Amino acid sequence: MSSPWKAERVRSATTTIFAEMSALAVATQSVNLGQGFPDTDGPEFMLDEARAAIAAGVNQYPPGRGILPLRQAIADHASRHYGLDYDPETEVLVTTGATEALAATILAFVDPGDEVVALEPFYDSYAASIDLAGGRRVGVGLFGPEFTLDHAELAAAFTERTKAILINSPHNPTGVVLSDADLAEIARLAIEHDVLVICDEVYEHLTFDDAQHRPLAMLPGMRERTVRISSSGKTFSATGWKIGWALSTPELISEITAVKQFLTFVSGAPFQPAIARALNEGDAWVEQARLGLQAKRDRLAAGLRSVGLDPVIPQGTYFMTTDVTPLGYPDGVAFCRDLPVRCGVVAIPHQVFYDRVAAGRPYVRWAFCKRDDVLDEAVTRLRALA
Ligand code: PMP
Ligand code: GLN
Repeated sequence: MSSPWKAERVRSATTTIFAEMSALAVATQSVNLGQGFPDTDGPEFMLDEARAAIAAGVNQYPPGRGILPLRQAIADHASRHYGLDYDPETEVLVTTGATEALAATILAFVDPGDEVVALEPFYDSYAASIDLAGGRRVGVGLFGPEFTLDHAELAAAFTERTKAILINSPHNPTGVVLSDADLAEIARLAIEHDVLVICDEVYEHLTFDDAQHRPLAMLPGMRERTVRISSSGKTFSATGWKIGWALSTPELISEITAVKQFLTFVSGAPFQPAIARALNEGDAWVEQARLGLQAKRDRLAAGLRSVGLDPVIPQGTYFMTTDVTPLGYPDGVAFCRDLPVRCGVVAIPHQVFYDRVAAGRPYVRWAFCKRDDVLDEAVTRLRALA
């Protein structure tokens, strides 16, 4: 149902699948393996720092670009992990989560009619932000059952109207980490077509086994045309704090900041010093969290196998994918609708992340960033399906 005044530009913007499925989980008392948020907290010293900041009166508007100690910590993190140097004064912007960084970047650079190439399945906010800007998304498939990038399709996606390419690695929902060959091909095409590159790297630290995240900005000729976007939400298990950031050249960051001012103006004052400290002192905590998450991945994969599903083992992120056809469901949406009622578990159908919905139809995404007892309870409940 919509009002007669709803703008055409936001016609696709309805309640997100994550909010819908989390509400369904609460209503049906289901185990929620849908929305990607962890059910344990980040490092204690980080939580203490935020509490202390509130107590000390850090409760008014912070500077528009974020407090300098946080911008410095973000720059130091990029330098320490990837050898990428950004000037905290001019090349770092703190945002209200990666979501705002993505929206502000897209609104700053995409005009009506411009095309944005993006990996399909797309994270839902990409489609919404491109729509808000009046742009057109052009999907390049990371399609099952292999979920690999087809370089010929990638090359063919670029046209005279292409303004930007938006990539996400590690990739939600597939868990794919783009290979060096994929990154090299994206870089080659970005230069050939002279387009802006937007990299969503929110899962940068959540990689498994031998997979390693390599920012595209590290490749020759890329830093000056790339906006790197990340967030503390995933790295420090604080998805509700909504402290994210964008890193790029002084010109691009100024242009994104100009838009950010009118979306939220500034972001989360008392959380900023806490995230600065987490970035500066939290590497060991993050490494433990990564290993813990990898064990959870393996735990849920074994559980899903025990009920007749065959998960695609992700190289990164919070998520794994299964084809639910073996359980008698050719359509993941029908499966996810029935699941809470049949056995009290919530998952997310891939289909909602696709323009070419047929490619996503049989797949379902399961979040494993949950306590072991929650994962075990989900698997126990899923046995009712077998
Ligand atoms: N990009 C991807 C790929 C995501 O999965 C998410 C959600 N976690 C975001 C961006 C949004 O991040 P944030 O919560 O920091 O806004
Ligand atoms: N990124 C999270 C996911 O993919 C959800 C974030 C949200 O609810 N918008 O599940």
